[in-house]
Formats: sequence, C-alpha cells, structure tokens
Amino acid sequence: MIENYSININIDRLMEEIEYYAQYGQVPNEGITRPSFSEEDYKVRNIFINQLEQMGLDIKIDAISNIWATLPSKNKNASTIVIGSHLDTVPNGGKFDGALGVLVAKEIVQTLQENNVSLNHHLEIVSFTAEEPNDFNISTMGSRALTEKLSYCQLVNATDSKGNQLSDVVKKAGGNLDNLSEIKRNDIAAYIELHIEQGKRLENQNISIGIVDRIVGIYRDQVQVIGEANHSGTTMMGDRADALVAASELVLAVERITSQFGTDAVATIGKLDLYPNAANIIPGKVEFILEIRSASKQEREIIKTKIHDEFKRIQKERKVAILTENILDQQECTFNQEIVGLLQNAAESLNIPHTTFASMAGHDATHLADITKAAMIFVKSIGGKSHCPEELSLPSDIEKAANTMLHAVLLADAKLDRLK
Ligand SMILES: [Zn+2]
Repeated sequence: MIENYSININIDRLMEEIEYYAQYGQVPNEGITRPSFSEEDYKVRNIFINQLEQMGLDIKIDAISNIWATLPSKNKNASTIVIGSHLDTVPNGGKFDGALGVLVAKEIVQTLQENNVSLNHHLEIVSFTAEEPNDFNISTMGSRALTEKLSYCQLVNATDSKGNQLSDVVKKAGGNLDNLSEIKRNDIAAYIELHIEQGKRLENQNISIGIVDRIVGIYRDQVQVIGEANHSGTTMMGDRADALVAASELVLAVERITSQFGTDAVATIGKLDLYPNAANIIPGKVEFILEIRSASKQEREIIKTKIHDEFKRIQKERKVAILTENILDQQECTFNQEIVGLLQNAAESLNIPHTTFASMAGHDATHLADITKAAMIFVKSIGGKSHCPEELSLPSDIEKAANTMLHAVLLADAKLDRLK
C-alpha cells in the first residue's frame, strides 16, 4: 500500500491495557512481581492468548513457550515482520518494562485490522519468555533459545531454587523442550522492539523517543584485593594492609576515570564481598565485580587499561595484592541500518522529534539481530526510573513512539523483501 500517515494507534485503549496487565503481580506500593513461570505469569499468558484469539490471529507457542500471533498476509509465501517484547518483570518492577512493547505490538495489529490494511508480509506479535533475570539463572531465555544460543542439555537440566525443572514449567506454559530443534526461524524479514529507555538521556534532552541503533558492549572483571586480616584493636594504623580501604580507593578511581570521558560510557562496582566481615577484624580480603559499558570497543579498552593502571598504582601504595580475572567481554551489537533508517523516516514524516543512540542495557533484540534485520525504539522514562515501582512513561510520549513504530512497520512492509 501507499504509506498513509493518517492511521494512528488508539492511545486510550493502549493505556487501559497497560493498567489492566499491571494488576497481575501487583503488590500495593511494592510494584509488580511477575517473573516467568510464576502463577501471575501463567494468568497473564492466558489473558494475552485469549485476546489474540479474539482478534482472529493465528497463535503458536514454541518450544521455549514464547508466544507468537500472526496477522497473515494474503501472500502465503511472504516473509514475516515481527514486533514485540516480553511480559515478565523483575521483582518489585514497574508496569512498562517489557509489557509496553508487547501491548504496543498488539495495539498496532488492532489498528491495522480496524483500518483494513492488508500487508505484503505476515505481521507477527511475539512475547518472549523470561527476558529478565530469573530463578533459573537464564535471562533472555526465549530470544536466546530462538537464536540457538541455549543448548537442549543446558535447558533440560535447569532447575530453580525450589527444585522445579525448567522442562516442567515450560510445558505448563504450552511449550515443550523436546521440540527445541524445531524452534529456529528463517522466515523473519525484520524485528522491531519498542521499550522504555530506562535512563534519563531522553528526559535530559526533552525528547519523547529515541531510535536505537546499537546495544552497548559489556566488560566485567572479577577482582580480588588481598591484604592482611588482623586484630582491629592491637594493629596500629601504620601497620595495616586493609583490603577494604584499598578497595574503596579502587571504587573511587573507577568513578573518576570513567567520568573523565564525558561520553555515555559507564563503569560500576555493584557487587562487593568483604572477608571475614567482622567488627573487630581488619578486612583481609575484598572481592568485587568491575563492570564497564560502552558502545565503542575502543573506548571500553581505553577505560579498562586506565583502570588497570590505577589498580597497579594503588596496589603498590597500599601494600595489597590485586588480582583481576576477566569474566565477560560481550561485544556491542549493531542494529540494522535499514530498519534504523525506517524508524527515523517514520518519526520525521510524523514530525516527531527524535534522537538516535545506543541502548545501555541488553534486550531480546540483541539476539534477534543475529538472525534478522533488527532495531529498537525507546520511549522516555520519567526520572530515568526502571526496575522499580516508580517506573513511568507518559501517554503523550508512548503515543508518539507507538505511531512511529506503526509507520515504520508499514514502511518495512513496503520496502523489505517479501518472500521467505
Ligand atoms: Zn525489558
């Protein structure tokens, strides 16, 4: 079809749906706790599937229990454009992380149906299983299983802290790990995911939407600082090799070095353990994880080298040993320029101010990018808050993002290869 910019999503209906889904797992004043395979998750899955059936879509639950719903093209041999996100939440999370992307996808399909738009491609809604960290210790489970990054052995042997087998809970959600070999898809022409920003960059620039063209790379070191444990009363200040005091200097150095770059690069020490951790013993050992995130590999390398150099200086000065071991070196993911361009064109045609930047967090789209043309669109998060009950995006911003996404889907339908 010729692009028709008069078609718009129904923001009131979408906001009602967000509130409706937010009831499931909600604890008053403590946000929403709806991990995958919880009772609340099973309820939401059933509600979602019922709604999709009522829309007349073809529903499929795959081996890992990702939910797929297709608005078919008249052309049976058409390839598929996929839109969606995830319905699970972190403990005490918000209404928007994940659910917004799934519900916008549903709203887009409803809008197309109401306007009798027939597409050259099949259009599929997806809700990925267990995107968030969970009790099975396998995050982005649905998208990684789909893209063959999780083996049958790894999944079939996974159990949670209560001893539940992943294979059983997946079955209860309509999946079946025995069919994992059939999960692969090679008919997807594009994947577009809408998500909240989870940061303050859009708010700081007073812009409603961000087009995401990359996902940052993540580097992590396990660090041990080894000093000398001793009596906190009898060991004079000059005679100490206090591992925690040295580690404190390291923490400050990480902040100082990374701030100096003045870019979107961030570094964090978010996990730290102290030994023996007693009031009357000078800390003999500290273990922590250093994490560096940047969309540029070169920048990550420079920050890492500067931090390591500073570690060496502090080690000497504080008379401690500092041992570092690299435990993660995940490269940045570059999204598809064509899909990024379609999102930018859609925003421009709708006169919606936008910016293009990297996502600082991982998403299902990272994995989809390995099998298809993928990109994301972000909605402003008020106060930059996410993974907490205060998580908030405003209807006016959501409407702009959802309409941009709708029109990017229509542009993709007109421009991408139609056959699988
Ligand atoms: Zn999310």
